[in-house]
Amino acid sequence: MTPKSYSMEAQTTFDWDLIQRYDTTGPRYTSYPTAVQFSDSFSAADYRNHALISNSGAAKPLSLYFHIPFCSTLCFYCACNKIVTKNKAKGEAYLHRLLAEVGLQGALFDPGRRVQQVHLGGGTPTFFSVEQIRTLLEEVSRHFNLSDDESGRDFSIEIDPRTVDSDIVHGLRGLGFNRISLGVQDFDADVQRAVHRIQSPAETLGVIEAAREAGFKSINVDLMYGLPLQTQGSFHETLAAVIGAAPDRVCIFNYAHLPRRFAPQRRIRDEDLPTPDEKLAILQQTVATLTDSGYRYIGMDHFARPDDELSRAQDDGSLYRNFQGYTTHADCDLVGLGISSIGRVGNCYSQNYHDTDGYYTYVDRHELPVTRGVTLDADDVLRRDIINQLMCYGTLEIDPLEQRYGISFDSYFASELGALSQFEKDGLLRQQGRDIRVTPAGRALVRNICMAFDRYLKTTDGQRFSRLI
Ligand code: SF4
Repeated sequence: MTPKSYSMEAQTTFDWDLIQRYDTTGPRYTSYPTAVQFSDSFSAADYRNHALISNSGAAKPLSLYFHIPFCSTLCFYCACNKIVTKNKAKGEAYLHRLLAEVGLQGALFDPGRRVQQVHLGGGTPTFFSVEQIRTLLEEVSRHFNLSDDESGRDFSIEIDPRTVDSDIVHGLRGLGFNRISLGVQDFDADVQRAVHRIQSPAETLGVIEAAREAGFKSINVDLMYGLPLQTQGSFHETLAAVIGAAPDRVCIFNYAHLPRRFAPQRRIRDEDLPTPDEKLAILQQTVATLTDSGYRYIGMDHFARPDDELSRAQDDGSLYRNFQGYTTHADCDLVGLGISSIGRVGNCYSQNYHDTDGYYTYVDRHELPVTRGVTLDADDVLRRDIINQLMCYGTLEIDPLEQRYGISFDSYFASELGALSQFEKDGLLRQQGRDIRVTPAGRALVRNICMAFDRYLKTTDGQRFSRLI
C-alpha cells in the first residue's frame, strides 16, 4: 500500500555532524525482512504453496528477473554473484538450465497473469548473444503470458558497454526490450585502472546514442562513488559527460569496501580510497549537479528525469523498492530465475541456489532450485509497508495505516516512539498532523529511520551490512 500523497521533500541536505552521529552499518532495504533473515528451512514446497495461493482472488501481474552471472573480466569493486570466464560454452550450459527453470516456474502461475516486467541482470546479460536471449524470451512466452502492450510493459536489460555494439543494441530492441541500463562507474582513466574496468567514454556514449536511435524509451547509467583514486574534481568530469548524454535515469551507487567478504576487493588498496570527507563531498556535489540539471532525486541512489516512469511512479504511488533498487509496478509478484535470484511472491521471499552446481542439480532433476527464503508474518507485512513508504515517498500516513492493519500506531510502536522523537529533535523528520514526513536532512539518512522499524536488527550482526554513506 502507498500513501495518498507523495510529498517527498524536493531537496536533500547533507549535515556532516548529523551524518557522523548516525554513521553506522545498515540494510539498504531492498527487502524486508532482509536476506539475512532467509532460512534454509524454507523449501521449494513452501515456495510452490505461496505461488499457488498468489493465483487466487485478484491475482497480481508478474515481474520476471533473470540472473545471467557471466562476465568476461573482473572488476575489482565487484560484490555481485558472478562467474568470470571467456568460455561461451558455459553460457550455453547455463541457458539450457534457465530454459528448464522457465518451464518449472511457469507451471506454478495462472496463465491469465500478465507478465508486465522482464529484467535481465547480472553478471553481464550480454554475455549471451542476441540469439540466445531470443531463445530465452521465446521459452518465456511459451510458459508465461507476456504482455504485448508496448506502452504498459517494461522489458529491461543491463549491459556492459564493452560487450556490445550498435547491431547488438538494435537486436535487443528488436526482441522487445524497451529499457536499457549501462554500467559505467567512472570515466577517469586512473580510477578505471585501479578498479580493472577500462571503458572509454567514446564507446559508452556511442552505445547510448545507438540505444536512443533504436528507440529505447528509457536509458539508465550506473555510476559509483567512493572508488579508489576518485576525487571530487575527477568525478565531476564523469558526471558532466554523463549528463551531456542525457540518460533518463542515473544511479549513483556507494562503493562499500568489504574486502573480507568480497575477494576481488582485496585488489583495491585501502590507501587509494577517498577519505570519508571526500566521499561525502562527492555525493553532495553529485546530488546538487544532477538536481540542478533537471533530474529528480527519487531516493537512496536513484535519479530520474521528471517525465521518466520512475518519477511518474513516485507521483502516482506505484513506486517500489526491490532487489533491483527503485522500480515501477509495485503491484507485481516478482519471480526470480537463475542462480541466487530472489523472488517475492505473495507473502514470501525465496532464493535460488547460489552456485551452478546446486542450481544445475535441482533443475536437472526437474525440481525448483529454491534453497532458502522466508514467510512473512503479519508484523513483517506491516513493517515492510512502513519501510517501503519511507524509502519511496518519505512519508508515513498514520490514519490509513491504522485502518489497513487494524492497529493503534502509538501502542503498536510504543518502543519505536523514542527513536522517532529523537529523529524529530535532530531534524530528520517532522510530524505533520498525524503524519510523519522525512525532511531534507533526513533524506540522506532515511535508512536510519527505517532501521527504527526493523525488528530483526537487534539480533543481526551489523557487519553484514554496508555503511550508510
Ligand atoms: S561489476 Fe558487473 S561487470 Fe564487473 S565483474 Fe561484477 S558483475 Fe561483472
